[in-house]
Amino acid sequence: PIGRVVVIGGGYAGATVAKYLRLWSLGSIEVVVVEPNSQFVSCPLSNLVLGGSKSINDLTFGYDALKSNHSIKWVQDTVTAIDASAKKITMLRGELSYDRLIVAPGVDFNYDTLPMLASAEAQQQIPHAWKAGWQTVNLRKQLEAMPDGGVFVMNVPKAPYRCPPGPYERACQVASYFKAHKPKSKVIVLDANAEIISKKGLFTRVFNETYAGIVDYRPDNAMTGVDVATKTVSTDFDKIKAGVLNVIPPQRAGKIAQIANLTEKDYPWCDINFLTYESKLVPNIHVLGDSVAAGLPKSAHMATNQAKVCANAIVQLFAGQAPDPAPVFANTCYSYVTDKSAMHVANVYRYDEGKKIMVSAEGGGVSMSPSEKEGAYAVAWAQNIWADTLT
Ligand code: FAD
Repeated sequence: PIGRVVVIGGGYAGATVAKYLRLWSLGSIEVVVVEPNSQFVSCPLSNLVLGGSKSINDLTFGYDALKSNHSIKWVQDTVTAIDASAKKITMLRGELSYDRLIVAPGVDFNYDTLPMLASAEAQQQIPHAWKAGWQTVNLRKQLEAMPDGGVFVMNVPKAPYRCPPGPYERACQVASYFKAHKPKSKVIVLDANAEIISKKGLFTRVFNETYAGIVDYRPDNAMTGVDVATKTVSTDFDKIKAGVLNVIPPQRAGKIAQIANLTEKDYPWCDINFLTYESKLVPNIHVLGDSVAAGLPKSAHMATNQAKVCANAIVQLFAGQAPDPAPVFANTCYSYVTDKSAMHVANVYRYDEGKKIMVSAEGGGVSMSPSEKEGAYAVAWAQNIWADTLT
């Protein structure tokens, strides 16, 4: 091999960059992925598990095809430290050296303002379900067990957070389940932001029309405290006792990015060069996906597109060439509002040489209204991204 790239994280960004580094270097770059989980569980579509039209098994995949199709080396472990000067990482069970390192750990939850929810026991009572897996299943079970007439309370954390439309999609999925099975039940959405921050007009219409009398959306209603034992939430205006409570904590770059000083003290995301995704703070380390600084939406689609720009740039850098000066990519984000109907927002992003960031092109596209046709497109989108990322 002409060099070794170590990738931290086998999520959307990490798995994709590993595959395309192998493909585009024609096998000449050795790629090692370090990932603690034995399986990949997709966050996209995981709100449908709460609505009841998908199971977590539908969203869970192995890594075998990806590894063997592309001869990617794989270590099932957690990275605990990065020594950038020695170009070496430490894991729970060993060390690895690299020529270039890719850090793609997703998000870390910040419990500074919600310390009562930091423990695994508290999250058993009050799951975030913002990393798909057992918490998603737990939250669904709680919704099933809730008597009709109960109140589901959820929050939207202050932006930026993973998947801007995701919380509003979640409110629709739970409302869809209630409408069909528990019609006297309510969904209260406490938004820390001043307004719905993605597909505002569409979600407003769905809340007010499809889910009139079920969804009670409250902008500018940050949670100020939670009593875990009684599932009671405080805001500046109110105290609300929930039957089922879902708290999505504020977010920041993955923990290993913080430990490795890839973030700055008062800014919890990683600043990168958008031509290579190399950190602006630490050389030879690239950051991808949700940990990347605000400006691009934190989505799986975005994570995989960043991964391709980064893989291409690293192949060029190993060959002693300058990286492609004008990357362009798109982001499409579908939201399911019932078990069958979805709506989308799509944007094209181009590199702006003056500003040195990716800028969203004028316009972009957004659905006129949700439809079953778009529901079918949304499944196709998910099947395509899973196939691209995992095979
Ligand atoms: P992840 O996919 O979270 O992967 C990070 C990986 O890093 C994990 O596997 C983790 O185990 C690993 N890791 C972390 N720390 C370490 C460490 N120290 N050592 C080794 N490995 C480590 N996006 C869309 O595009 N469309 C959607 O419809 C959509 N719907 C969503 C719905 C919900 C409910 C949620 C929560 C998210 C949704 N998203 C959607 C957003 C999408 O899931 C994220 O943007 C995407 O997962 C980001 O990819 P990533 O690779 O940065 O992080």
